This record gives sequence, structure tokens and C-alpha cells, in this order.
Amino acid sequence: MNRTADVVIVGAGVIGSATAFELAKRGYKTLNIDKLPASGYGSTSNSCAIVRAHYSTWDGVAMAYEGFFYWDDWNKYLEVEDERGMAKYMKTGSIMFMLKGADHSKKSLNEDDSFFDKSGDQIEGAVWTPGSGYVSDPQLATHNLQVATEAKGGEFLFDAEITEIRQSNGQIQGVTLKSGEQIDCKVLVNVAGPHSFIINQMAGVEDDMNIKTKALRHEVHHVSSPPGFDFEKDGVHTSDGDNAIYFRPETGNSILIGSEDPECDPKEWIPNPDEFNREITDSQWKAQVYRCMRRIPTLEEPSRKRGVVDLYDVSDDWLPIYDSTRIKGYYMAIGSSGNQFKNAPIAGHCMAELIEACEKGQNHDEDPVQVKTVYTGLTLNMGFYSRNREINPNSSFSVNG
Ligand SMILES: Cc1cc2nc3c(=O)[nH]c(=O)nc-3n(C[C@H](O)[C@H](O)[C@H](O)COP(=O)(O)OP(=O)(O)OC[C@H]3O[C@@H](n4cnc5c(N)ncnc54)[C@H](O)[C@@H]3O)c2cc1C
Repeated sequence: MNRTADVVIVGAGVIGSATAFELAKRGYKTLNIDKLPASGYGSTSNSCAIVRAHYSTWDGVAMAYEGFFYWDDWNKYLEVEDERGMAKYMKTGSIMFMLKGADHSKKSLNEDDSFFDKSGDQIEGAVWTPGSGYVSDPQLATHNLQVATEAKGGEFLFDAEITEIRQSNGQIQGVTLKSGEQIDCKVLVNVAGPHSFIINQMAGVEDDMNIKTKALRHEVHHVSSPPGFDFEKDGVHTSDGDNAIYFRPETGNSILIGSEDPECDPKEWIPNPDEFNREITDSQWKAQVYRCMRRIPTLEEPSRKRGVVDLYDVSDDWLPIYDSTRIKGYYMAIGSSGNQFKNAPIAGHCMAELIEACEKGQNHDEDPVQVKTVYTGLTLNMGFYSRNREINPNSSFSVNG
């Protein structure tokens, strides 16, 4: 007889594990299946794990703001002690520059002598949010979620690749693994991160979706703090739209620098998420590190390049898709577009509510599920995250969401 589960979750990244925890809490027998050897080993492992609430839509802000409370409440929320330790929420505060138009990031590389000149435009101001910060270790946070899920009866299967999604009469029946093993379930959730489009193609739903997802290569660089300044202790997360970078403190008195992907930098879309260059490139290193040197003139360029390379799972409008599909029992939490680590626990809550409502017969496409949040008491309209929405013109069309 085949192994069975109430819900199979494709992936054990931070969002897949949070979805499992919320479903297991509601009494579902969950099974996360991941082709990697442990939880949080996919794109989650290299996440900058920044927690902030500035997004370009009301729904985006409401969801991220709700997320603050989960991270603040982490140990109590999970109700377990992980013997590996618990992830910590480092509340550095967050500063976001307000811009007036001209964008200095258009002068991107050091070949341009004027790169370090003042752009001439004033930054209008900045928004300071003291409750923001970052999570100390994204992989550990995911392991914490795994332990909490297991405590509620959920299971995890690693080193197991899903190669077929079985369905009949428009209803999910289960999955087949590369080993040939079949696992039966009536509910399946695609939380495959940068592989999300492959899973959707496997299920045959991609062509029906108005909003699709694809994988984008992203570099993050680490540099030492400027001399005489302890950035790890005294630095803040900064969203510097003027230089098209974001940066935050990192352990080892370092600064971690990511890109806001300005138009002048070519985007590297990756057709096969299992094959991409994991080395830091000279051109992107210069773009990001030199931009940070514009903001912090005492910063010195390190002699050795340090950092990580991974993939974003980007949707057409850089907003996530949290939705059901035309196949009964097939759901997705995808298109996290480089900005949904922070939302993993609240996304898990929303997915569990959505799945429960749909499995009880609600047609989410016609009558979108409304989710009442736990901490802020706001109501989130899950229709906002529909796969069939029009491209949202209010999006930043960037990692800022
Ligand atoms: C470099 C980088 C920096 C980021 N910085 C931030 C940030 O500062 N703040 C923020 O909020 N967000 C950030 N993000 C985004 C955030 O990290 C992601 O949205 C989040 O980690 C995605 O989690 P996930 O569970 O959806 O996917 P993943 O962690 O990618 O997990 C998906 C899993 O699915 C598995 N899988 C795929 N296909 C199969 C298959 N066929 N069979 C079995 N298993 C399969 C994979 O092995 C993988 O482990 C960043 C992302 C990156 C890449």
C-alpha cells in the first residue's frame, strides 16, 4: 500500500515549513517532501532574512506588519525548544530613503569617472521603522519550524525528488518520487521556491495562470565594517533606493549588501534552477559594493570577494501568489520575489486558512477567502494574491514588493 498524507507540501523551505506547521496545528497529517538533505537548504539558506514593512501596496504592508509580531513572539509561537537553538530576531530598525526622481544608481560601474560625484538631487527624507530588523539564521528558523511541525504530528521526507503529480477527474491523487515510490494525498501545495514553475508545469496548471513565475539569479556581498565603526552592533538595515542597494549588519562586524535590481543592471533569468553560476561575478561585486561605498565613504573595498549567490522565485509583478488552482486539492505559495522570508509565518497561516476554506467547499476564485490575522486583527483579502489577477501597477516591480 502507498504511503499517505492529508497534505503533501512540495518543499521544506521557510514558507513550506511554515505552511506545514499551520496545517499540522489544525490537525492535518502533513508531509513535506524535499529533494535536498534538510529543511531550509534551498533558496531560504541564502536569504538575507530582512524583516521590514515598507511595501508598495496596502496588502503588502499589512501582511509584513503582521509578520513582525510572529518574529517577536517566535519561541512562544512555535511552542518548542529546538536542540539546535532558536533563531533570533535582531531588531536593528530600518531606514528607507525617500527619493525625488533622479536615480543615481543609473551610473552603475566604476568605469564611469562621475560615479562617486553627487547626483545633485536631494534625498527628500527617510522613513525610520524601529520594529524592523533581520532574522539571525534563516536555515535555523526553518529547522525551528520543522521541529514545531513534527511536534504536532507533521512529517518531513528529504533527499526525495517529486517527478510526477498524479491527478484524476481534476482532483489531486498524490505524487510519484524519482525512486518510483508513490505517495497518496488529496491536497498538494506547491512551495518549491525557484522550482515553482517546474512543479506547475508538471501539474499542467501553468498555462491557465495569468501571473507566472521564473527564477532570477541574485548576488549578496559581505564587506567588513568601515574602520572604527562596529556595524554589526550599531548598524541599521538600510533600503537605499538612491543607490539601488539594501544593506544590513552581518555577523563578524560585517555589512551584507544586496541589489534592488535597477534597470541599468541586466537581469539574469535562469531557465534551469538546478544549473546556475554560484560564483560572485566581478561586475555585480563592483556594482553593489561601489554603490555602498558611495553611501558610506569610509568603507574600504576588501581584497577578497565574499558573499553568496542564489535564486529568487519572481512573479510577473513581483508580488507573491497564494492561491488555489483549477485542480481540486492543488494549491500554491510561490512567486516570493526575494521578499517573502519575513512573511513565512503569516503566509503559512493564510495558506492554512485558504486550504481549509476551499476543502470545505468555498470557491476561492469566485468568493475570495478573507483571513483574519492573529496579532493585528486586520482582515487580509487573499484574492489580492490570485494567480489570475491583472499585473498590479502599484507594485515596485522589484525586490521591494
Ligand atoms: C539571496 C536572497 C536574499 C533574500 N533576502 C530576503 C530578505 O532579506 N527578506 C525577505 O523577506 N526575503 C528574502 N528573500 C526571499 C526569501 O528568502 C524566499 O522568499 C524564501 O526563502 C522562499 O522560501 P520557500 O520555502 O518558498 O522556497 P525555498 O527555500 O527555495 O524551498 C523550496 C524547496 O523546494 C524544493 N524542491 C523544489 N523542487 C522539488 C521537487 N521536484 N521535489 C522535491 N523538492 C523540491 C527545493 O529543494 C527547496 O528546498 C531572499 C531570497 C534570496 C534568494
